Amino acid sequence: IPVDVSPSAIEYEGRPADMAIIRDITERKKAENAIMHAKLVAETANQSKSEFLANISHELKTPLNSIIGFSDVICNESHGSLNEYQRKYMSNVLSNGKHLLNIINDILSISKIEAGKMELHMNEFFVSDTINEIKELMEPIASVKNIDMSYGIDIGMPAIKADMIKFKQIVYNLVNNAIKFSYQGGAVKVGGNISDDFMHISVKDHGIGISAKDQENLFYPFFQVESSATRSYGGTGLGLSIVKKFVEIHGGEIWVDSEIGKGSTFTFTMPTAPLNSNLQDISISFD
Ligand code: ADP
Repeated sequence: IPVDVSPSAIEYEGRPADMAIIRDITERKKAENAIMHAKLVAETANQSKSEFLANISHELKTPLNSIIGFSDVICNESHGSLNEYQRKYMSNVLSNGKHLLNIINDILSISKIEAGKMELHMNEFFVSDTINEIKELMEPIASVKNIDMSYGIDIGMPAIKADMIKFKQIVYNLVNNAIKFSYQGGAVKVGGNISDDFMHISVKDHGIGISAKDQENLFYPFFQVESSATRSYGGTGLGLSIVKKFVEIHGGEIWVDSEIGKGSTFTFTMPTAPLNSNLQDISISFD
């Protein structure tokens, strides 16, 4: 057996005086080196994957934005010059273009998160104002399925310090899912309050629900509950993993309570004024 007798590969268990036990740890060293090498390879691969995703997403966004922009102009400013079919096909191009842009933006967010390039821009804002904006955005989406939307936000809630854009994206994703996985004519309730310096926001639906087993995987990227029923809802399976990351970088937590066929409640917390210690390894700016 070849024995590496360099000092780093020999362990001395000295004592007494001039006696020592020399143990061959060549195999252990080899294993340690192999693990270190594998970790390095994995890190490099992860980094280049994230860079590749970020680059390709940027390249895709430029032509896509012009497809969306021009089809929007054709749909909305050429009244009378399009026949019924042309208008229908053009609005199809527009809505699919927007859908593709959402997917690309999700992939960009994930690659930023994985590359550790997520930034927080902290602002002071009232949760009730932000929820009101989301309410307006959601109304047309909810009305298509005749969903009864209600909002129980504690009006005494003081202003909080957080990244408002990310906060909006969290609530938007949760409410959008709640509507998407509700039955026709269902009900969705958004609740919010503050206790012990933490804000609690919950989004409750009475939709299809999620099994205990699927709840374990829900927050992993690209996870979608496997059944022909849910696949027909579309989506990328990225929303909840982004939501979880956004919540966690603020120093909060997210969880779900759900029962198949009865509905789901997603709840997340966030400190009302995060401390720097909650926000390690993140580039932060206070606006
Ligand atoms: P997407 O909605 O784009 O598929 P998400 O990450 O937001 O991606 O959600 C992942 C999966 O979790 C969904 O595909 C769905 O199977 C399940 N899910 C999320 N929210 C709900 C909900 N409110 N009710 C039932 N299932 C849900």
